[in-house]
Amino acid sequence: MLSVLIAGGGLVGCVNACMFGRKGWRVTVFESRSDPRGNALEKGRSFNLALGFRAMETLKHIGILEDVIKMGVPIKQKISHQEDKEGVLENLALLKEGDFILTINRQKLSELLIQKAEGYSSVKFSFDHKAIKYDVECKKLLVESPDGSQINVDGDLILACDGAHSTIRRSLLKTPRFNFNQKYCDIGYMDLSVTIENVSELKLGIHYSWRRKGVILVALVNRDRTLTVSLFANFTVFAENCSTPEDSVLFFQRYFSLIYSIIGERHIFDTFSRYKPQAIISVLCSRHGFFDKLLLMGDAAHAMLPFQGQGANCGFEDCLVLQEILEETGEDDLKSLVKKYSEVRTNDTNMMNQMEWEGYVQLVEDLQNLNRSLGWFNKMQ
Ligand code: FAD
Repeated sequence: MLSVLIAGGGLVGCVNACMFGRKGWRVTVFESRSDPRGNALEKGRSFNLALGFRAMETLKHIGILEDVIKMGVPIKQKISHQEDKEGVLENLALLKEGDFILTINRQKLSELLIQKAEGYSSVKFSFDHKAIKYDVECKKLLVESPDGSQINVDGDLILACDGAHSTIRRSLLKTPRFNFNQKYCDIGYMDLSVTIENVSELKLGIHYSWRRKGVILVALVNRDRTLTVSLFANFTVFAENCSTPEDSVLFFQRYFSLIYSIIGERHIFDTFSRYKPQAIISVLCSRHGFFDKLLLMGDAAHAMLPFQGQGANCGFEDCLVLQEILEETGEDDLKSLVKKYSEVRTNDTNMMNQMEWEGYVQLVEDLQNLNRSLGWFNKMQ
C-alpha cells in the first residue's frame, strides 16, 4: 500500500487526504493545532470564503459539494455602497445562468473536510503534531509530537500543505535554484463577525460592501444566525482611526452606521480591545516539486491576496490537478508525478497570483480616488 504524509490539516491538506484516502493510500495528516471540531469559531480571525467553480469542482469530486452548499450560502447579487451614496442591487457577473458564488465560513468548511477525510479507514489525523522540516539526508519528514520528541517519518509522497507561513517551505530555502518571494500588502483585515437574533436590514444571498477612502467593509448573512463582518483597511487608516477601542466605536458610528447599529457598540469595543488587524501575505515560488517526492501545495506554494477570492479556489484545484496527473503517470512513477505537477502548477498559480496582485493595485487606486479623506476624522473628536 502506498503512503502519503500530509503536513497541515487545513483546507488543502484535508482535500488531499480525502482524495488519497479514496484511492486506498495510507494517509497520515500532521496538524500542528488541536482538533478544531466542537470549538467555538476563532474570534478576530474567522472569515467567509467565496468559492467559485474551481473549488466546487473539487468538492464535487470528493462527494461533499451538496453538504457544503447546504451549509453555505449561494450568492448571486451584491449591493455596493460608495461613501454616502446608497448602493443598488446588482447581479454578480457570473459565467452562465444558474452559476453562483458560494460563501461559507472557513473553519466550518475545514471541520466538514476533516470529518469526511476521517471517514476513510486508511486516513489518520495526528493533531498537535508539528511538521518541522523535510530532512534532505534521509528523505523523510521530521515531526514533533506534543511531548516535544521528534521523529523522522517516511512516506512515498510528502505534501506540504502547511499554509502561507509554511515551515516545510522554510526548510527548503537553501535548496539550490529554488527562488521564493513573499510580499505583504498595505491592507489588513479585522473580523467582526457576530451571532444575532434578527437582521431584517440585510438579506441572505446578497454580498454587501461599503467603500470609503482606504477602506472596504463587507457583510454577509449566514444560515446559522451569524453575520460575517470583515473590515479591510489600509494600516494607516487603522492607525489613525482605530488605535483605541473607543476610536473604533466612533469610526463605525460615523462611517458604517448600519453595521454599527446591527453589531452594536459593545461588540466593536470588545473586538478592538482584544484583536489587532491581521496582515495579508502573498507568496511566489519558482517551483513546487522537490527531491522526487515532496510537493508544496495550497498557500504553502502560492498564498494569494484575498480581494478576488482565489486562494482556496486555487488550492482546491491543486488537489484536483495532482489526481489528474497521477492518473496519467500511474502510481509506480511518483518521480514523474512530482516533476510534471511542479511544471504545470507553478506557472498556472504564479499567473493567478500576479492577477490577484494587479487586482489589489487597482483596488488601492480606486479606494484612493474616493473623495472624502478619513484623515480629518480624528481631528474632529
Ligand atoms: P491553511 O488553510 O492556512 O491551512 C494550513 C494548515 O496547516 C493549518 O491548519 C495550520 O494549523 C497547519 N500548519 C501550519 N504549520 C504547520 C506545521 N508546521 N505542521 C503541521 N501543521 C501546520 N480564498 C478563496 O478562495 N476565497 C476567498 O473568499 C478567500 N478569502 C480570504 C479572506 C482572507 C481575509 C484571507 C486571509 C484569505 C482568504 N482566502 C480566500 C484564502 C484562503 O483562506 C487560503 O487560500 C486557504 O485557507 C489555503 O488553504 P491551505 O490549506 O493551503 O492553508
